[in-house]
Amino acid sequence: MILETFPVGPLQCNCTIVADEETREAIIVDPGDEIARIHRRLAALGLTLKQILITHAHIDHIGGALKLKRLTGASIYLNEDDLPLLDIMAEQAAWVGVDTPETAPPDEGLRDAITVGLANYPAQVLHTPGHTQGSICLHFAPLKMVLAGDTLFAGSIGRTDLPGGNGEQIIHSIQNRLFTLPDETKVIPGHGPATIIGKERRTNPFLK
Ligand SMILES: [Zn+2]
Repeated sequence: MILETFPVGPLQCNCTIVADEETREAIIVDPGDEIARIHRRLAALGLTLKQILITHAHIDHIGGALKLKRLTGASIYLNEDDLPLLDIMAEQAAWVGVDTPETAPPDEGLRDAITVGLANYPAQVLHTPGHTQGSICLHFAPLKMVLAGDTLFAGSIGRTDLPGGNGEQIIHSIQNRLFTLPDETKVIPGHGPATIIGKERRTNPFLK
């Protein structure tokens, strides 16, 4: 398996590549920015991109998705409850102080419980609203890993003061969907360092 996580763009969104070393097929999660660099990396590794998975439609996570789709032909996946955030992309760009990226409706939805990813590295979609209404996490059960978007961070949780945010909902999502995963599950958040489910369940100050 190839697994690479690296921050992109001014808000340093964690972008993750998961690939099968045998088939050279890959998926990418949250290519928010720096698409030329990401495209070069995929080419250097000799990978064919199959899916562009977006944890939620904030600009720092989805900003580069359409550009990457045009370069690779891969489909874009997004939970439909975040479609309203695509309509305010210019407003989102103004929050960050960047140009408005071109976006398009997703090719595929990311409904709760469906399986996405690669044949050898499948991921189950966990719908975890709260940071946004369409926020999802991707649980790679065989890899004991969850990509948590901006729902859960090491020692923190996603902000809920932006449009579509809901503080009670994010706590409910974390308690009922993430903290029910096995203790040893590695968490790769949307920003910052990785952590472990068991550690966050014991120590995260926002979940006391
Ligand atoms: Zn966000």
